[in-house]
Amino acid sequence: MIETHAHIYDEQFDEDRDLMLERAFDTGISQIWMPNCDHETIPKMLALEEQYPGKCLSMMGIHPCYIDENYQKELETMEQWLTKRHFFMIGEIGLDFYWDLTFVPQQEEAFLHQLALAKKYNLPICIHSRNSKDNTQNAIIRCCELIEQFGWEDLRGIFHCFSGNHEEARRVIGLNFLLGIGGVVTFKNGGLDKFLPEIDLNHIVLETDSPYLAPVPHRGKRNEVFYIDLVAHKLAEVKGVSVADVKRITTENALNLIKN
Ligand SMILES: [Zn+2]
Repeated sequence: MIETHAHIYDEQFDEDRDLMLERAFDTGISQIWMPNCDHETIPKMLALEEQYPGKCLSMMGIHPCYIDENYQKELETMEQWLTKRHFFMIGEIGLDFYWDLTFVPQQEEAFLHQLALAKKYNLPICIHSRNSKDNTQNAIIRCCELIEQFGWEDLRGIFHCFSGNHEEARRVIGLNFLLGIGGVVTFKNGGLDKFLPEIDLNHIVLETDSPYLAPVPHRGKRNEVFYIDLVAHKLAEVKGVSVADVKRITTENALNLIKN
């Protein structure tokens, strides 16, 4: 399996990170994709990549929750890194309307700027899209609109931690993007079970978003990478297919995304 989204550099793993990763690799995870957040997470992320070559892979990007009035400085830092070495993906980037709407214009600006970098380096992107608490501000739809506005047909990637509805899923797939499915699929009121039976497995990749969003029965506790097995099992149940098929097809999808 490929874990397509985990913040394994997070301090919540400082006590037992190597053991946690051992458990992950023992569960049959061949790669862990690490999304970046801002300039502070870069050194920790790159150190893990060096420690686990070919297994822990670094993205480069600025997370929307880390975009404020200083966002241009953050973008400069990431751009410098992109000129210095190869990254396999831009991420995580996007829009977060959940906590605060103050910097939405800057978030949109930064998102478009990073789409341009994806085009420049011909890289897939990992998208973070979170609606406002009252659901009146829809981040998935807005990301789709900005992608359409940007208008690069070869743009591809993942809507990580996808938690939209059927219509939004279809729109995302129509834009050539994959749905990143994680712990939310195990939540009682997660809503994903309502439409995932109608979504072809070819459009899905697995993730945990560790240390956040732990699947049932660990909900609310620290999430970790090997719980991805629980996600795979639940997805197989929801879709009425074998766990082996879920693992095989989502792994192929992930590998196809990042092969040149
Ligand atoms: Zn994330």
